[in-house]
Amino acid sequence: MIVAQDLGLVSLSAPVAAGRRTAAELQSLALEGASLLADAPAEEIARWAASTFGSRFCVTSSMADAVVAHLFSRVAPGVDVVFLDTGLHFPETLKVRDIVATTMNVNVRSIRPRMTVGQQDGEFGPRLFARSPDECCFLRKVEPLERALSDYDSWATGLRRDESPTRANTPVVAFDAKKGKVKVNPIAAWTQSDVDSYIARWNVPVNELFKKGYGSIGCWPCTRRTKAGEDPRAGRWAMFEKTECGLHV
Ligand code: SF4
Repeated sequence: MIVAQDLGLVSLSAPVAAGRRTAAELQSLALEGASLLADAPAEEIARWAASTFGSRFCVTSSMADAVVAHLFSRVAPGVDVVFLDTGLHFPETLKVRDIVATTMNVNVRSIRPRMTVGQQDGEFGPRLFARSPDECCFLRKVEPLERALSDYDSWATGLRRDESPTRANTPVVAFDAKKGKVKVNPIAAWTQSDVDSYIARWNVPVNELFKKGYGSIGCWPCTRRTKAGEDPRAGRWAMFEKTECGLHV
């Protein structure tokens, strides 16, 4: 799954199209990309995305690890990396964000919710995450992502098919009709072993919580340690049926 070293670099400042693309044009590009790149290496997918969408493209990262940010920093130096700063992250997660910002050739954009945690407590009552996590995720993740993505036609994620049954059919490129944008998942086909190899090969920053028994890392109120052999995502919203924050649906 790990590939070519000699990559032509993509200049993100180059104009990619005369004027803004319509949803129909983006859909057509997504179809083309999906067919062209279904079995392509991650670097090739990343290169296609950065060169196709230029400055209208960003990477999103939860800062559980910095694999996808690193991948794009090699292919498209200076690329925007959007991080949703919910105000409820573990310090270890913010540390990865800060290391990425200071050591990689990317532009980290920390996007905050409209309300601070205190303001949200005042308006909705304290610990909304314990009563209505969907509402809390909407306020602190979904709305901020939608706001951030208004600057772009396409975004990349670190989603992988082997992460959970709900992600088993993740395509490498798809048109998100709800958002009207092209979603790119360059490491969709990677296994955990591919990720570990990439991290070791490039010395990519990883959240220290993985060494402390966490299998998947989100906001601290909704994340617990997982046991050996347990589904890594079982540690997210463990008191609820909820398995996704709403960013990928
Ligand atoms: Fe709120 Fe939990 Fe969602 Fe974070 S993961 S936004 S704390 S419900």
